[in-house]
Order: sequence, then structure tokens, then C-alpha cells
Amino acid sequence: MELLLQDALIIPEPDTTKIFQANIVIEDNIISDIAPNAQIPDPEFIISGKSLVVLPPPINSHTHLPMSLLRGYSDNKTLMNWLQDIWKIEGKFDARWITLGTKLACLEMIKAGTGGAADFYFHESSIGKVMEEAGIRGWLGAGILPSAFVDQGGYEFQLSEFNRIIEYSKGSPLIYAAIAPHSQMTVPEEIISKAADLAEIHQVPLMIHASETRKEVMDSEDKYGVPPIERLEQIGFFREKTKEILAHCTWITQREVEILGKHQASVGWCPVSAQKLAYGGTTPVPELRSAGAYITLGTDGTASNNTLDLWREMREAANVISASRWDPALYPAEHVLEDTCWSFRRNFHPESLIKVENQADLVVLNFQAPHLKPMHNIISNIVYAANGSDVHSLIVNGTLLMYNRQVLTLDETEIIDKTEENVKELL
Ligand SMILES: [Zn+2]
Repeated sequence: MELLLQDALIIPEPDTTKIFQANIVIEDNIISDIAPNAQIPDPEFIISGKSLVVLPPPINSHTHLPMSLLRGYSDNKTLMNWLQDIWKIEGKFDARWITLGTKLACLEMIKAGTGGAADFYFHESSIGKVMEEAGIRGWLGAGILPSAFVDQGGYEFQLSEFNRIIEYSKGSPLIYAAIAPHSQMTVPEEIISKAADLAEIHQVPLMIHASETRKEVMDSEDKYGVPPIERLEQIGFFREKTKEILAHCTWITQREVEILGKHQASVGWCPVSAQKLAYGGTTPVPELRSAGAYITLGTDGTASNNTLDLWREMREAANVISASRWDPALYPAEHVLEDTCWSFRRNFHPESLIKVENQADLVVLNFQAPHLKPMHNIISNIVYAANGSDVHSLIVNGTLLMYNRQVLTLDETEIIDKTEENVKELL
């Protein structure tokens, strides 16, 4: 594809002093030029307009895409009571429902300018097919939880899904395999070790939920004498050449902050889901950043969020740190934006950051809107005032997925209508 983006304000780094105005030229899947007068003869697409702002699309670092079918199905409950509701329906999820839920999620993500997601679920090969069709990058964590989906093959099926994703990812520029044991309280030690071995052998990310609630931490201390992340270190979860993504890390100690920093692990924190399910704690984001961990922002599944809109998530992320820590300077807007649009890419796909000769991943925001004026500080407006509806266009790996709010890779009307019609059957 040949595309010319004209006169946009470009944010190449999460730093207000680095913003500049220029054209961007994309040829095939690569950014071939960035300069005030950059041109290409007869581009297939031209994106231009007043007040367009361009940055790397956010990546959702922890989610469960098919759960979009359960948005609003169970609210105002604590984690365990909520899970009882969710598991009843989730047990019925086969490839058909997974595909429909992922289509709905991908449509929502494109409309909100999300360029990729680290998903954590079962039937990930079905999820991968939809993400590839949608044109979004997917880090697909094959869920390992021997007690789940037993009638669909349980642990053996989950391992075979991992192998399928490995094969699938070899032929795809957008799909990356990962392995995802559910948590150290729900998966036996030998299976966590096997998953860590597989991540090391195949050089793929290793995902897990950790220290999500205070109860989980207390249960771990009662059973093993140490909190979850300390135990993960004791049982050899962290490997020198493996990149880990630990979801939540809501209730963790200073010692665990140091463990995560030492291993340069990624933390996929999900502030909205944690607040909604009333975890009562807040991930110690400033300390984790200082320790050397990668802080990345996730939504968790839509059943507990209830959106995949990472612009809304950013505002909540910023405010929950300020409110809970009594310090409005502890997590400034630049850090929030970095953790949403840069951090995951720096660790897992730096070749898609905004730079000539890199793969073209760009989100274009339309700042010609009352809630985004005046532009005293563009990064402040993005973090505290923007939302997913402000996304004008989205480009991933050189493909235009949405232009002026028209989704080009998925049939928006069909997906919305099909969801409404079919979900009654699921319930
Ligand atoms: Zn989760």
C-alpha cells in the first residue's frame, strides 16, 4: 500500500518537546519517509485534515478478547462471585463463540485505535485467525488451566493449541505465539515449569496472572509460605532469555517489585478492572518503573472492564495512582502515555515504532474537537481528555484498517447484528 499522511503533528517519543509537524510516506508495510515536504506520486490513500495527531497505536497488554460476548453480563460482584457467573457461560465457549466474541472485540479495538493485544485464553488459534483478518497484531497466550474446558480436551488440548499457534505464527506477520499458565495458585508447579520450558525453547512470551487480589496473596502465603511472585521466582518461572508478562500485580511487596525489576518483566496492569472488581489495592506502578520492569497497560476482559478503550483506561490509570498515593506528580501523563503506546512495543516489537524504515504502525487522532482544545499540552489532552471515538484512522503493518472512522477490514454492521442475534442462543 502507498499512503501519504499530510501535515500531522507527530509524537515520535512520549515527550512534548519532541513533537513536530511533517508528512509521513508509507510504501508497502514500511515508513519510507518522514519530512515536512515528503511526497509520493499517486498514493493509494491520502490522510489529511486539520489538527491530526499521530503516535504509535496503543497495545493492550492483558485481555481475554472472546469475553466481549459477556460485557455487562455480571456487574457489581466480587471476583469469586463474578467468576461463578462467568464460568457458567464460558464453559459453553467453543470455536464458534470464540470467533464471534473476538470479531466483536477486534471491531471495538480498531474503532478505538488499538494496534495489538496480548490475549490470554483458550482456542487461541481461532482468535489468531480473526486478529489476522482484522489486521491487528496479536500476542496469543495459549491458556493452560488443566481444570478448564475438560470436555474439550483439557490440558492436552491446551498444549496442542500452543503448538498450533507456534505453527500459525511462522506464516503470519501479525501473529506471535505465547504460553499462558493461568496462575501459580491454579496450575500445578510441574505444569508451570513445563510452560516456562516451552517459552524458553520457542523463545516466546510467558504470561501469567499474579497477585491479583489480597486473598490470592494470603492463600499463597498460607500454602507456600511466600507471596505469588516470590514463589514464581522460587520455582524457576523467570528465565534469563524469556520475556514474561505478569498480569495485575496488584498486591505485591517491595521485594517482589525488585524481583520483577531484576528480571525486566512486563507487568500488564489493568486499573479499571481492578477497581471495578474492588481489589482494594493498586499496582505500585512508579516503584516498578524505577526498578526496571516494563509497565504496560491492559484492560483485562470486557466482562470486567467493560470496554477495550485504552484512552479511557489511560485516564483511569493516571488518576488512580494520584488518588491512592496522595501525590498527583507520581505518575505524570508522559509516563502513562509511554506505558500505553511505547512500553510494550519497545520490549516485544521495537521495529514498529515511528521511524523511517520501520514497519508502519500509526494511529491518527482527530484533535479538531471541543474537548481537545486548546492544545496547551497535547500529551495531557490525550491522557486526560481523549477517548476512542477521537481516533480518525488506524494503520498496522502498513495496512489501513480504519479511515475516517470507516473500518476497512471487518464488516461493522454484520458483526454488530450477528452479536445481538446470536448471543441469546448462548445464554
Ligand atoms: Zn485476566
